[in-house]
Amino acid sequence: MTGWPTSKRHIDPELGRYRTYQDEITVIDGIAYRGQRIIVPSKLRHEMLQIIHESHLGMVKCKRRARDLLYWPSMNDDIEQMITRCKVCLENRRANCKEPLIPHGVPRSPWAEVGADLFHFRQRDYLICVDYYSKYPEIVLLDNEKSRATINAFKSIFARHGIPDTVFSDNGPQFSSKEFRDYAKDWGFVHDTSSPRYPQSNGQAERYVQTVKNMLKKAEAAGGDIYLALMAYRDTPLEGVDKSPSQLLMGRRLKTRLPVTKSVLKPSVDWSGEDHARLRARQKVYKKHYDRTTKPLTLLTPGEVVRYRKAERTPWEPAKVNNVYDAQNRSYILDVNGKQLRRNRRDIIQTGERTVPEPVHEIEEEMQNTVEDQSPQRVASSETNRVSASGEAKQQVRRSGRITRRPAYLRDYE
Ligand SMILES: [Zn+2]
Repeated sequence: MTGWPTSKRHIDPELGRYRTYQDEITVIDGIAYRGQRIIVPSKLRHEMLQIIHESHLGMVKCKRRARDLLYWPSMNDDIEQMITRCKVCLENRRANCKEPLIPHGVPRSPWAEVGADLFHFRQRDYLICVDYYSKYPEIVLLDNEKSRATINAFKSIFARHGIPDTVFSDNGPQFSSKEFRDYAKDWGFVHDTSSPRYPQSNGQAERYVQTVKNMLKKAEAAGGDIYLALMAYRDTPLEGVDKSPSQLLMGRRLKTRLPVTKSVLKPSVDWSGEDHARLRARQKVYKKHYDRTTKPLTLLTPGEVVRYRKAERTPWEPAKVNNVYDAQNRSYILDVNGKQLRRNRRDIIQTGERTVPEPVHEIEEEMQNTVEDQSPQRVASSETNRVSASGEAKQQVRRSGRITRRPAYLRDYE
């Protein structure tokens, strides 16, 4: 009210911060303004922050909302800090952006590596199996979602095409049950589950779920026949390969309702590896296309406070990074209230929180998805991925010590 001291030395350091824009400061009715903006004293800042963020709008919106009305020197930083630690916002944050694709690679022969997934459509459960070589999809309607029904579906598919070397799937209860483990051992294939929920190596099966669901929807909408749709799909040449899934898997086109010359239906097999080269080229193109809308997520460090989620559209729950499980597949072991949980980077967000807050919801049976109860066989399977001559899967996994065993390629990090 009496003007600024002439020398800097006589100014209280707290007030010194206002000196650079001293000319903009006015006082009206006992309230200090910088231009049109009210200067908020430190005692009221917390309250103002609450109001700025009362509707839990995002960072940019909150800053904008405050910018025209209020002022204090560290206002932007304070807003930022508050929001990165706001429980409500963290719990409900949207999904991470997609990460660049980790291509699964093209197997050397048909029906050697197969991706499997379950899906639900109009109150019914289906098993889908996709051959990573030919992209040939098999779909079986399940009586129920139980392990036994799933195993029976696999049996019917494998009875047609033979037993693959490796079946990739997520960690769903049907796949992580003892029953399924026994079945894999009995029939002699390796069961590989990568990181739960977004298993990159299972990506192909997951993508096919979408394709097949769309097919089911359209067939239903048009009063059509799902099996005709499926047959058309299997008989349609793949872009860039010029052979259909059925040709790649069985060496021949299918006789559909379209007229066809007899010669096309005779089996012909490519021994030159040309198909394989084309399939690989196709995958590269796909990756390039896919990666356009992706961004790699930052690596996490052990000890870091993060949040993770169990499934899409569930709240982000607090956790702490325990260690890297599989760097290549972006998979981490999290510590959740002393329990170990495996999650893909895609389902983990970084937060501004310094300590692990209370869990959002009760930790229910979901916690059986702990590392011990799952079958994270990836570490072992990356080393011995094939079935031995006796037909028994070599990498039958020891249930203890699995997690601490780090794959060879991680040794560089130690
Ligand atoms: Zn919020």
